[in-house]
Amino acid sequence: MNKTRIAILGSTGSIGRQTLDVAAWFPDRIEVVALTARTDAGRLREQAAQHRPRFAALTHPLPDADRTYPGGAFLAGPERLVEAAEHPDVDLVIVAVVGTAGLEPALAALRAGKNVALATKEALVVGGHLMTSAARASGAQILPIDSEHSAIWQCLRGNELSSVEKLVLTASGGPFVDRTHAEMAAATVESALDHPTWRMGGKITIDSATLMNKGLEVIEARWLFEIPADRIEVVVHRQSIIHSLVYFSDSSVMAQLGEPDMRLPIQYALFYPDRPPNSLPRLDLVQSRQLTFEAPDTARFPALALAFAAAKAGGSLPAVMSAANEVAVDLFLQGRIPFTGIADRVSTVMERHAWQPDPPLDVLLELDSWARRAAWEA
Ligand code: MG
Repeated sequence: MNKTRIAILGSTGSIGRQTLDVAAWFPDRIEVVALTARTDAGRLREQAAQHRPRFAALTHPLPDADRTYPGGAFLAGPERLVEAAEHPDVDLVIVAVVGTAGLEPALAALRAGKNVALATKEALVVGGHLMTSAARASGAQILPIDSEHSAIWQCLRGNELSSVEKLVLTASGGPFVDRTHAEMAAATVESALDHPTWRMGGKITIDSATLMNKGLEVIEARWLFEIPADRIEVVVHRQSIIHSLVYFSDSSVMAQLGEPDMRLPIQYALFYPDRPPNSLPRLDLVQSRQLTFEAPDTARFPALALAFAAAKAGGSLPAVMSAANEVAVDLFLQGRIPFTGIADRVSTVMERHAWQPDPPLDVLLELDSWARRAAWEA
């Protein structure tokens, strides 16, 4: 069997590291050709020693001494993301960098006819119209790594999109699911980073606490499954056992379940349509705690309502919302604004934005810079 040759953009982050775990389970089926990281030279050095990629790069400027590893020096510069994505020896590109930075390399991979396994949901949130048309033009596929979208993708197997009535994304509710607005206004960074069911990077963990992550996932689902946002719902399911559901036109409902572990959706994207056996923990239904479901409270979690508004408006609004959110999350992590200030800033920037229906990439990137400045100054 031919090996699948992969590039991992963002290999030292949470998804990147777990992708390398899965690759190490199946050395006969996966070859790691390219790795990129932003600044974590130490971890990239370890990964390069273990996986021996042909291409390894640090995208953030670092002193030359920090770029050496036994056998050479890491390539340097932000343009290396696109080079890794277009690498002629790569079949599948795993995009797992933080935020909008994932859009250009994901587009480059799709245009080069390479399948993209996408963890960076912002790439679809910001440029979903560009990503889907690039995929259509080259015949490449966008494969979700996000657990909810992997669940929906699995439920849709063997079914027609035209028979889908609605999609239901489950949300754990995050660490503040039971907090009042006043408690959230006084919340510390540490408490917001303490996610009850998933271990993830800082940006997505804060997005999970505001429920912006679920809002971004609504927009991601809208593009992946070509379904309007008014047929996508969110339900709070604290245990993160049901990863999402599909309602069909004949009243049947399908769901995908499992212990929360990102290595399953990663493996599914790497080997689709195969399901090679692994040793991940099995769900024990009898031992399993109760499964509970609640409607999300958009009064306490206004970011979710902002994202639904952006999803329905489309055009440039999701890109502006996502850029403003990246800055607002940073400001919160730096202790400059309260937790509740994140959604306030995003809302202010969205209100100031002059909406455009179908922005090309250069306009999107300009709007991205504008939204970041506006969020900083708001
Ligand atoms: Mg998710």
